[in-house]
Amino acid sequence: MVHQGTGDVEEISPGCWVLKLPLPFPVEVVNCYLIEGNGEACLVDCGLHTSKALAHFQAALRMIGIAPGDISTIVVTHYHPDHLGMAGTIQSMTGARIVMSSSEYEMLGHNWYDPGSNADRAIHQMLEQSGMPRSLIARLHAQRVRLGSHIDPVQEVTAVNEGDAIIVGRRRLQAIITPGHSPGHLCLFEAETGLFWVGDHLLPRITPNIGLFPLSNPQPLGSYLTSLEKVSQLPVKLAFPAHGEPFEDVRGRVEELILHHQRRLHTLLSLMTRRGSTPYTLSQKLFGKNLPDQARRFALAETLAHLEHLVAEGQAEKAQENGLVRYRNVAAAGRERRIAGRANS
Ligand SMILES: [Zn+2]
Ligand SMILES: [Zn+2]
Repeated sequence: MVHQGTGDVEEISPGCWVLKLPLPFPVEVVNCYLIEGNGEACLVDCGLHTSKALAHFQAALRMIGIAPGDISTIVVTHYHPDHLGMAGTIQSMTGARIVMSSSEYEMLGHNWYDPGSNADRAIHQMLEQSGMPRSLIARLHAQRVRLGSHIDPVQEVTAVNEGDAIIVGRRRLQAIITPGHSPGHLCLFEAETGLFWVGDHLLPRITPNIGLFPLSNPQPLGSYLTSLEKVSQLPVKLAFPAHGEPFEDVRGRVEELILHHQRRLHTLLSLMTRRGSTPYTLSQKLFGKNLPDQARRFALAETLAHLEHLVAEGQAEKAQENGLVRYRNVAAAGRERRIAGRANS
């Protein structure tokens, strides 16, 4: 059964609808899922709070024929604005409980969008030490504050941990915690059907951003690779991502993503100069210079996550000088030291 029109709603498996809510970002749409089980329903992810997204959400419920009060649970896979943004408003409309993983819930304690807050200062410092130009940092700051106005404050959250069951009528959804894209990203697996709601952990066409952010997981890439291995063991029949179309071959996608990150690590090592390179310069070499501001921030965060992984693996070293952080390739630096040693002997 396919419904077209306002709200872009489709029943993609019996009792599971996808609601495509609009986003004012390049990805354009976030897939929220409504899972129904015996007169009760669970909403997975909430979209960014804009008047357009709210109108789409309300129209979608009318098309499905479900009353707001039938939604008993709202699962927020992770704290990013396109997933959390409208959760508070939808909670007020429905009276549902909001479920997040316990480590993701901790991220709500940081005032990312408040100028002058500790989190805001930590972001500013990280960007500055990475070598990002001040004018760009200022523009990103203004964008972040604007974005904050589209994210509802959330009062009450039910925190879940690995393996916990989220019951929706007759359906039993198992919490699978997949740190990496965010520190406590939450996926849901239904063993009875093999259905797997994966949020931003696995995306079919684009690679999920694995970025380093302050006050968060210091080794996001290592966590992500472990989480990829973990989900590849599940007997999944169909995966529902937050961006893009459903897909079946979870193992195949996991292999592609692991290979993608291995290649990126390898490339980064080859791009470091002898003196050591700043993360911002490396991000420009990796992703190009002509990117929109937001994409430059994601590129930098992704570069930093890979650099910190190389440091943890002993393949790169980092040093701070004149307020800038630089990374060097350990093997190349060792070769140089040996050559210099021979020249001096
Ligand atoms: Zn995300
Ligand atoms: Zn997303």
